[in-house]
Amino acid sequence: MKGKLAIGGLLLGAALGAYRRLRRPTSLEGRFADAPIKILIVGGGFGGLAVARGLARMFDGSKDVGVALQDHRNYTTFWPMVPSVIPSNAEVRHVAHSLRRILKPLGIEFFQDEVEEVDFETRRLKVAERD
Ligand SMILES: Cc1cc2nc3c(=O)[nH]c(=O)nc-3n(C[C@H](O)[C@H](O)[C@H](O)COP(=O)(O)OP(=O)(O)OC[C@H]3O[C@@H](n4cnc5c(N)ncnc54)[C@H](O)[C@@H]3O)c2cc1C
Repeated sequence: MKGKLAIGGLLLGAALGAYRRLRRPTSLEGRFADAPIKILIVGGGFGGLAVARGLARMFDGSKDVGVALQDHRNYTTFWPMVPSVIPSNAEVRHVAHSLRRILKPLGIEFFQDEVEEVDFETRRLKVAERD
């Protein structure tokens, strides 16, 4: 009996864990400019987007946290598919994806700027002047 209960508990735990990982997070409600806690992600590549999804999941619909992502390009590149573009097995639109479109459902804002310097002490970024 105890063994069956333990197995049932483990299965339930695994199912809940899988549900939490697969479920879309609720869009963050906080705006970056006004939120008491601000998180800025620099770079919208593999790493930056993994962080964005992780934060959206962690703060699930929070009004207190404003997350923004900054990249000098307004698209992200899916590098593993890039070599397929050369023999024309894939089109460029399958390889480059709009960062705004990915981030909007997560409630994460996008700023397009080139970061020149990060000052960790003052928590400020220096961005390149626009042409
Ligand atoms: C052709 C190719 C095929 C690959 N295939 C695989 C694969 O099959 N499997 C695998 O695991 N890995 C693969 N990789 C490696 C994988 O793409 C990298 O490990 C991964 O992209 C690194 O992630 P990242 O977030 O560190 O950098 P990136 O994905 O390069 O993201 C960096 C982001 O920061 C932005 N950025 C850079 N400088 C600035 C700046 N000054 N200001 C603002 N924004 C800036 C860039 O625009 C970019 O969006 C491949 C790489 C290549 C080139």
